[in-house]
Amino acid sequence: MTLSAEHIERLRALLAPAARRIVLLAHTNPDGDAVGSSLAWAGALRALGHQVTCIVPNKYPYFLDWMPGIDEVVVFKNDTEGRAAQAIAAADLIFCLDFNALSRLEIMSDALHANTAAQRVLIDHHLSPAEEFDLAFSHPDASSTCFIVYSLIEALWGTDVITREMAEALYVGMMTDTGNFAFSHLTPELFRAVAVLIERGISIQEIHDSVYNAYTEDRARLFGYVINRKMELVEGGTVAYMSLKESEMRRFAFQQGDSEGFVNYPLSIKKMKMSAMLLAHRKFIRVSLRSRGDVDVNLFARCYFEGGGHRNAAGGKSFDTMERTIERFVAAVREFAAEGHLG
Ligand code: 5GP
Ligand code: MN
Repeated sequence: MTLSAEHIERLRALLAPAARRIVLLAHTNPDGDAVGSSLAWAGALRALGHQVTCIVPNKYPYFLDWMPGIDEVVVFKNDTEGRAAQAIAAADLIFCLDFNALSRLEIMSDALHANTAAQRVLIDHHLSPAEEFDLAFSHPDASSTCFIVYSLIEALWGTDVITREMAEALYVGMMTDTGNFAFSHLTPELFRAVAVLIERGISIQEIHDSVYNAYTEDRARLFGYVINRKMELVEGGTVAYMSLKESEMRRFAFQQGDSEGFVNYPLSIKKMKMSAMLLAHRKFIRVSLRSRGDVDVNLFARCYFEGGGHRNAAGGKSFDTMERTIERFVAAVREFAAEGHLG
């Protein structure tokens, strides 16, 4: 990943006036990278004297509750006092972190259009960024938005400004978006960044334990149920899909974040090329996709489920019933394979 020197200077200029009112936005169903990049970037901006409000459209998963500063993040969906709308209306500058188009804010998209005065800056690593930003740090070759934020801090002010709290937040995103440093874009620069975060005093062991070993008993049992009872294989056992209806989720006292990681598990089967999780929400079914190697689930999500993401991790939505969504998924996989996309 190479940051553009010209972009860096434009960002520096945007941040030059004192005490700017700044809003940081992250995507719907915020994950470790969305929250981690927001908290770390907020820390850097506040240290410069800016006034920062972090907003997420809906609640982050409970295994991130421990993160320093997370209590100050405004959850738009639960924001009865209108703090989010006020902050957006008053903002001089809005940063969009870890998503590539304002439509990914879903329930919040309209609120954002209320303020047309603020400059919008994108900091993101998803493919195909929308052209609705005044300045874009779009780096699909970065393994996480946290790594981009780290690199921005390094380029703008040097890494000495990174506190232990900021380092923890950055590490959470780097760790979660790379599947604990197992996926793609694992560059020497990323590990140099991690080395600096360790110098700032983070405990990798503690962070790992806080994020990955903080689930409920119900979640462990739900995982067993999904893999044993709900995993279906097609295309000669090279594509897997799993589905969860609301009634099943209730049985296991489902909390948001409980299905995190399930979709990766079928890829532990040697010949698996692609895996999908179909999760019922109130108004639609969320489709989560993962793949190996050259199999492009970003393309699959864009073609069949109004979504997108990265080549090996993407998502989308279906507005059909679960039965119909499964039918459509299986037909889509057949077509995808026939077109040669499954290798
Ligand atoms: P996850 O399966 O973890 O929810 O999402 C995997 C990746 O796909 C993430 O990078 C996420 O931003 C992206 N993604 C998930 N759902 C959607 C969607 O509905 N639209 C788009 N464009 N990307 C999505
Ligand atoms: Mn990310």
